[in-house]
Amino acid sequence: MHQPPVPHVAQIDPQVADLINAEARRQFDKLRMIPSENYVSLAVLEAAGSVLTNKYSEGYPGRRYYEGQQCIDPLERLAAERAQALFGVDHANVQPYSGSPANLAVYLAFLQPGDTVMGMALPMGGHLTHGWAVSATGKWFRSVQYGVRADTGRVDFDQVRDLVRKERPKVIFCGGTAIPRTIDFEVFAQIAAEADAILVADIAHIAGLIVGGAHPSPIGHAPVITTTTHKTLRGPRGAMVMSTAEHASALDKAVFPGLQGGPHNHTTAAIAVALHEAAQPEFSTYAHQIVGNAKALAAALTERGFDLISGGTDNHLILIDLTSKGIAGKPAAKALDRAGIETNYNTVPFDPRKPFDPSGLRIGTPALTTRGLSQMHMPQVAAWMDEAISAALKDDEPALERIAGEVSDLLAAFPMAGWAPA
Ligand SMILES: *Cc1c(COP(=O)(O)O)cnc(C)c1O
Repeated sequence: MHQPPVPHVAQIDPQVADLINAEARRQFDKLRMIPSENYVSLAVLEAAGSVLTNKYSEGYPGRRYYEGQQCIDPLERLAAERAQALFGVDHANVQPYSGSPANLAVYLAFLQPGDTVMGMALPMGGHLTHGWAVSATGKWFRSVQYGVRADTGRVDFDQVRDLVRKERPKVIFCGGTAIPRTIDFEVFAQIAAEADAILVADIAHIAGLIVGGAHPSPIGHAPVITTTTHKTLRGPRGAMVMSTAEHASALDKAVFPGLQGGPHNHTTAAIAVALHEAAQPEFSTYAHQIVGNAKALAAALTERGFDLISGGTDNHLILIDLTSKGIAGKPAAKALDRAGIETNYNTVPFDPRKPFDPSGLRIGTPALTTRGLSQMHMPQVAAWMDEAISAALKDDEPALERIAGEVSDLLAAFPMAGWAPA
C-alpha cells in the first residue's frame, strides 16, 4: 500500500484511498520511462503532505499580506537560499505553481503583448510555453520558432542566428521537452548578445543533471533560468525562476502579484527538502547514473534496429522514430504500457504524421535509475521494448502480458519510496 499509509482517507473516502493505493502499486510494478517523471523520497512526500497546505502567504518573506508567517518566512528563505547555493545564482523565486506559470512569469517580466519571443518549436522538442501557437505564449506574443537540423537532429544554430538577426526577439528560450543532446548555452548566449535579447534557459528536464554535474550549467550564459522541480531534480510538482540580481525584482513582481496568489507552502517545504537531497554527494552519483543508463539503453536499442533521433543521447532522454519498426508512436506506447513499460508517444522532428498520432516514442531513465537499475539491466529493457513492439504488430496480447510479468518480477527487488507490501 501507499507509504505513508492513508488510513484516514480510507475511513472517510474509500474510493479515493483505493485509487491512491492502486496508483502506488502501479508505480511499483511498472518500468516508468516517461522522461519527465520520477519517484520522490519519503521525506519529500511527507513535506508535501504537511499542514503547510493550510497557510496563506501572499507576498514574499518579510513582506506578506497575511499574518502568522513565523514559520513560513524562514522556510521560503531556506528554500530560496538552497536553490541559490546549489545552482550558483544570485536570486531564486520558489513560488511558481509549476513550470508553465514559471515561464509565463518571464513573459510578464520582460515583454509586452505583441513583442517578439523566440523558442524551439514544439514538434522539434521545445515546450508549449516557448511560443507554440496554441499556447497563450504563441497567441499573445509574436513568436518565432527554431528547430533542429534534419541531418543531425541537433539544434540548427545557423537558423537560430539568422532568425535572431532578422526578427530581433526580446527574449530567447533554450531548452525543451524532447532534446536528447547537450544544450550549448554558450552559443545561445553569443547569439542572444548580438540582438541584446534576454536568454532564458528552461532547464525543466535537466535541472537534476546540472546540479549533479552531468550536464553543463547555464550559469554565466543565461541571466534567467526557469525549471520545474519534479523531473530529474526529484522534488515535488513545482517550479523555480532563477536569475542574476539585475532581473530579480522584475521576475518576483511577475510571479506575485503579476500572475499568482498565495504560494503553495507545502510545496515550498518539499522543494527545500529536495534541494537538500540534491546537494548531497549521492545525488551527483545519481545524475551520472541516469546518463550512463540512458547511453547504455540507447546502444542496446540501436543494436536492435531502433532509429534514435540524433543517433543517441547525451542526457536522460531518448527520442525514437518508430517508422523503421513499422508502427506509429501511439499504438506502440499503448502496447508497451500493457507490457508494463510506461512511455509516451511523441512527435519527432519533421514528423509527417499528426501530433495526436505521431511517429515517435519518448523515453528516459530518471525514474528507473531512482529504483536502482543500472547499465547491466538496459539490454533487457531494450529487449522487452523490442519484443513488445513485435507483439503489438501481431496483436499478441499473451506476449505483452508475459513481458509485464517479467518486468514486475525484476522490479520487485528494487524498493520504491511511496509503496510497501501491505
Ligand atoms: C515540463 C516542462 C515545462 C512545464 O512544466 P509543467 O509543470 O508541466 O507546467 C516547461 N518547460 C519545459 C522545458 C518542460 O519540460
